[in-house]
Amino acid sequence: MTHPAQPKASHFINGEYVEDTAGTPIPVIYAATGEQIATVYAATPAIVEQALSTAKAAQKEWAKMTGTERGRILRRAADITRERNHELSVLETYDTGKPLQETLVADATSGADALEYFGGLAGSLTGEHIPMGEDWVYTVREALGLCVGIGAWNYPTQIACWKGAPALACGNSMVFKPSETTPLCALKVAEILHEAGAPAGIYNVIQGMGEVGGALVADPRVDKVSLTGSVPTGKKVYAAAAAGMKHVTMELGGKSPLIIFDDADIDNAVGGAINGNFYSSGQVCSNGTRVFVQKGIKEKFLARLAERTGNAILGDPMDEATSFGPMVTENQMNIVLGYIEKGKEEGARVVCGGARADMDGYYIQPTVFADVTDDMTIAREEIFGPVMSVLDFDTEEEVIARANDTEFGLSAGVFTNDFSRAHRVIGQLEAGSCFINSYNDAPVEAPFGGVKASGVGRENSKEAIKHFSQVKSVYVRMGDVEAAF
Ligand code: NAD
Repeated sequence: MTHPAQPKASHFINGEYVEDTAGTPIPVIYAATGEQIATVYAATPAIVEQALSTAKAAQKEWAKMTGTERGRILRRAADITRERNHELSVLETYDTGKPLQETLVADATSGADALEYFGGLAGSLTGEHIPMGEDWVYTVREALGLCVGIGAWNYPTQIACWKGAPALACGNSMVFKPSETTPLCALKVAEILHEAGAPAGIYNVIQGMGEVGGALVADPRVDKVSLTGSVPTGKKVYAAAAAGMKHVTMELGGKSPLIIFDDADIDNAVGGAINGNFYSSGQVCSNGTRVFVQKGIKEKFLARLAERTGNAILGDPMDEATSFGPMVTENQMNIVLGYIEKGKEEGARVVCGGARADMDGYYIQPTVFADVTDDMTIAREEIFGPVMSVLDFDTEEEVIARANDTEFGLSAGVFTNDFSRAHRVIGQLEAGSCFINSYNDAPVEAPFGGVKASGVGRENSKEAIKHFSQVKSVYVRMGDVEAAF
């Protein structure tokens, strides 16, 4: 019997499901059991061509609609997404292995927020009138044209919407390629957008590995590329886009600092560290995986952290009581276990966890290392799993310098009850998305993105509009033209 997660076909192009079994088969594995639940096929060159030519042809008419009309479609899609939240959350859990307890509140819901928010903004995207004496200049905010979205595997619905909603609000069309690890959810986003009234061809989804992503990025018809992925992939995609002078948004990896001063509320700080390391089993780009704790409270902090981490419920992700799921794939599990071994070898102390969980599926125990030093591999490289490194510090000046000593710059957090210190420290941290007495909140109203190697551009908020549109300026002369001859 076909598994309920199996999509009707691999791709969604021109308003309908399309199959081409000549492409490389991509198995979809449910991380909680290791069972294959679906198969999709990577896009062949013919599918890539069909998606790009369709999206290119559909864009001009879409851009001619009023922003209010486009916004109405996006807001309708938001409503449908919310109505189907349960079904979409179950699919997200099959796609990623993340527990239903999370997916019910964090995935389709945040996708719906993006559709609603950018749907609401679509009617207000205007230019300026700039008086120049008798003459004037006016500006027009125009769509970029055909946009390509490429997703990572940790938030397949959210990423498809965070890229699609602002792109469509501005009058662009999109070809979206989900991660080959989680190909299912984006198809539902496409289906819902078209059900809500998006014209055929405005939002298309095609499957495939990096090769398909590369073919999309290199195509001269593409005006913009928005990638969510790792820094090495980001460097390749950014370079390929630059060759065609295309616009880019790069949402890449991180190794973010979370700084806890000795006057902080310990339970709130522990809660922040848990949210910033163990949500989605640690597979979150903005995670605060370098937890700097001021020496005076170190042991108290570690004791409370170990106690609360012990309350994590590992189990069947479909059981709403489960609060901690498996790694997305066996490969990712092995990468993370490799880092855990490195941490032990390099002398870090295991406070809790430190091994694979004794159950089926790709589960790793939530792991806390203490006595971590700045030069250890686990403190330098992005692990993308449930591995928290706790480092000690003495002074504010010292911790700021150490927090910034990394190629990454996605997020940063500070816990303290001294508000002048909180703002002073945040002001000096090299990061795009920061938190005071909290960690990992990502509402659609707030800009999201990194500095340094963690990325270029911003998603969400009004900032995202700037990255999916461009400004035309028009000088209007009222009098005669003066010329030298
Ligand atoms: P990845 O870099 O391996 O792949 C990302 C996507 O790029 C996939 O869809 C992949 O098929 C595609 N791709 C790979 N090579 C390509 C190429 N040469 N041309 C075009 N496309 C190509 O990342 P992943 O393992 O799927 O995701 C984990 C990474 O994503 C982590 O580093 C994480 O920090 C990052 N991430 C960042 C954010 C953010 O918003 N900043 C969010 C989630 C994940």
